[in-house]
Amino acid sequence: MNTRLVLPFVCVALLLSACGKNETASAAASEPAAGAATANAADAKAGARVIEITANDQMKFSITTIEAKAGEELKVVLENIGNLPIEAMGHNWVLLKPGTDVASFAAAAAAARTNEYIPPALADKVVAHTKLLGPKKTDSITFTVPAAGEYPFICSFPGHFVMMKGTLTAK
Ligand code: ZN
Repeated sequence: MNTRLVLPFVCVALLLSACGKNETASAAASEPAAGAATANAADAKAGARVIEITANDQMKFSITTIEAKAGEELKVVLENIGNLPIEAMGHNWVLLKPGTDVASFAAAAAAARTNEYIPPALADKVVAHTKLLGPKKTDSITFTVPAAGEYPFICSFPGHFVMMKGTLTAK
């Protein structure tokens, strides 16, 4: 009686665990390797140069000047390393076209809270932007530098552009 009851259970258990183990093993063996290879291949193909920028509770970008070449592909990674909530100290990274009136853009941005402070009416002034980030959040944006010129970049959270601004110079 015992054997009859136990054996089927053991068989099923073995099957299940064997099946589970195989899937886990094959996933562990193949996925990271394939993923890494794909990522490397994509990076090599795209040639996107990674630029890491942090933003903090003191309203400062870690980088305020970026040198680039026209036509170069850049991947800007923004990390908010602060602790204050997004409503009080949100940060984004907004790259504007050369010649954009930054103060006017920032004023319009301040009124665009529901659009993460990217003013829809001035979307044509924006080359690239990240999401608005709360504390310990990261976002990245990959884009091609359109042409030679001096591109202002800011955080468009209300009031921040005075402190949080820089220039991407493309040659
Ligand atoms: Zn900010």
